[in-house]
Amino acid sequence: MSTCTLPSQYSTEAAATILDKLLPSGIGAVIDGRVIPGTGRAIPLTAAATGEPLAEHHDLDAEQVDELLASSARGAAAWGALDGFQRAAILRRVALVLEEHAEDIALLESATTGKPIRDARVEAAKVAEMFGYYAGWADKVMGQAIPVPGDWTTLTVRVPWGVVVAITPWNAPAFTAGWNSAAPLAVGNAVIVKPSEFTPATTVLLALLAHRAGLPAGVLNVATGLGGTVGAALTTDPRVGKVSFIGSVSTGRTVAAAAAGAGIPTVLELGGKSANIVFADADLDRAADGAVAAIFSNAGQSCVAGSRLLVESAVHDEVIERVADRAARLRVGDPFDPATEIGPIYTAPQFAAVGTWIDEGLASGARRVTGAELPPAITGTRLAGGTWVMPTLLTDVSTSNPLETTEVFGPVVGAAAFDSEEEAIARANGTRFGLAGAVWTSDPSRALRVARAVDAGTLWINAYKTIHVAVPFGGFGDSGHGRSSGPGVLDEYTQTKAIWIPTGAPATPFPSLARW
Ligand code: NAD
Repeated sequence: MSTCTLPSQYSTEAAATILDKLLPSGIGAVIDGRVIPGTGRAIPLTAAATGEPLAEHHDLDAEQVDELLASSARGAAAWGALDGFQRAAILRRVALVLEEHAEDIALLESATTGKPIRDARVEAAKVAEMFGYYAGWADKVMGQAIPVPGDWTTLTVRVPWGVVVAITPWNAPAFTAGWNSAAPLAVGNAVIVKPSEFTPATTVLLALLAHRAGLPAGVLNVATGLGGTVGAALTTDPRVGKVSFIGSVSTGRTVAAAAAGAGIPTVLELGGKSANIVFADADLDRAADGAVAAIFSNAGQSCVAGSRLLVESAVHDEVIERVADRAARLRVGDPFDPATEIGPIYTAPQFAAVGTWIDEGLASGARRVTGAELPPAITGTRLAGGTWVMPTLLTDVSTSNPLETTEVFGPVVGAAAFDSEEEAIARANGTRFGLAGAVWTSDPSRALRVARAVDAGTLWINAYKTIHVAVPFGGFGDSGHGRSSGPGVLDEYTQTKAIWIPTGAPATPFPSLARW
């Protein structure tokens, strides 16, 4: 059941109409299921596909942040008091409503960010799936009965943190909002999502839909506004039990330091510089397809992007040729065209940054193979004002080139040749990041050896970029700590409480272990 239909082509006006239709109360904080417009500084939103002004929203003031936190604290108390079966029933309804409105979420995402509709549809469907998956866990959170010496029974129970703040980035707004809210909700926390100020719309819609599906007041609130004001306030408030953060390394460190100063623990999902390693014995067509998907989907604005392509020397030129050929055939353009594969860079500052890193990479000795001129589908239209970068393949990237160690977060892959397995592994591990990577080979032993040796939270063998809410995801090193999916994340969003029960005769109320 969709409220909107896909316009035949993208225009700023069509995008604004979708925004007005799906969020008639505008963009603002969601408190107790209602949209509350911010009263602080105006934050303009630009249509990335055209570069034209799209809408604006306002930062929250301190009083509004306080109101939001008070609502979430009430929500946490009420929600945490329900049993897992009650929470599961409500979350199953949320998943159903999100599934019914997946097309609305996808349209709003595409309209407000410029994300190609086909990608937006995949991500919207996954949000519903996340809620369905964690609804299934809500009534299966178990403690233990732990044997101890003497007349005692000891039990552990899992207790929610209370209010969890989920700070999210602009590259996959609805996806990351679902990713970091479904699990903490399932185990009894209230969640405040703080979306990027550049892309708040779908998070607002998600919270309204969840409320409409029966999630009680205050259980899923949204704090729209700026990171330095609203975000910072949420990371140090004593009413907050835990902060999850998805974003850049530098902001992640700021958030973690601020939260630690207030005694609040964090889960950090940060950037990456993932190595995609192709051995000469690989199926080179599949590897080339994989390399293209690894870096160019979502125009490279993906934390797990395979931004380093390491190819064994014997097949280097052949693989580069195949990747270049495929990259040149990618369809770049209108986000509302279901055939479009590559959209614009979603924010103007990021667009400027991508251009700078391409220039720096070239100045440091890399050679451009693809990625210069925009196609007529863009240049001859209003899309020409948008923030577009063509899929860019650069070769001869040395280990001292900034492209080797800097996360570009755009459709830019730096390639290099290697001569041995050891060299490939050493090079893959040559950055401080450790989010993901892949190995392409027909030798299963080598595949496993390399997958084990590369320091990263996710490794694919003869594949790239599949992630699923059921599988643990997170980083090593600068890519963050903690995990945000899979069954283990239920521990991330609860604390363990130990309960001691004396079972001896009444004459010995404090037997054996009652000393430190
Ligand atoms: P960012 O770090 O600029 O911002 C992320 C969020 O932090 C935004 O909501 C922002 O408003 C907020 N923020 C900024 N300053 C803050 C402060 N002082 N206190 C609290 N919150 C603050 O990141 P971005 O540019 O939005 O996203 C791109 C980055 O996200 C890339 O580095 C990408 O790799 C990373 N990312 C990582 C993953 C992952 O799972 N590892 C997933 C998606 C994106």
